[in-house]
Amino acid sequence: MKARERRHGLIVVNTGEGKGKSSSAFGMVFRAAGWDMRVCVIQFIKGQWQTGEQKAAQRFENIEWHALGDGFTWDTKNPEQDINTSRAIWEFAKQQIVSEKFDVVLLDEINYCCGYGWISGQEVASFLTEEKPPWLHVILTGRNAPEEVITVAATATAMTKIKHVFDVGIKAEQGIDF
Ligand code: ATP
Ligand code: MG
Repeated sequence: MKARERRHGLIVVNTGEGKGKSSSAFGMVFRAAGWDMRVCVIQFIKGQWQTGEQKAAQRFENIEWHALGDGFTWDTKNPEQDINTSRAIWEFAKQQIVSEKFDVVLLDEINYCCGYGWISGQEVASFLTEEKPPWLHVILTGRNAPEEVITVAATATAMTKIKHVFDVGIKAEQGIDF
């Protein structure tokens, strides 16, 4: 593994309407894990279902997984509670980012929380610019990535939908969607 001082810690954003934002991020998670880097995955949106990516990560001692959308309470009829939930996860994420325990931190679906105005994009961008260790890679996924975060990102990609099987009524498929 390359020494931390010789690394360019990147901010990577995956956004857009097409499929592949989270699965690309998990690809980078497993790449980094393969290099013995220490990885922290933080999921902002409730994942009620078991996912293949979380199960696969259990085989790695260097991937820590926090599906916090499950750990805090979401209640879409109560906007104040959703703000509190996403802010609590953001506070946890900030602690992990500055902890120096990890080489890669994935903030899965954080953009979605910013898109709803639950977390300020300006705050995320400022925190990453000012507090992220220079060697740490941070990946942010979800639709509607805020402009402020795209501005401070090193790499930003918008997935474009050409077609999605969901549109003909086929729901999430094991191994492809979860
Ligand atoms: P994936 O986790 O497969 O990379 P994603 O992170 O790009 O997807 P999300 O917005 O997080 O997309 O949505 C998660 C789920 O919705 C996945 O099951 C994914 O296949 C599905 N999905 C993604 N894009 C679309 C779309 N344009 N229409 C319908 N379903 C979609
Ligand atoms: Mg996703």
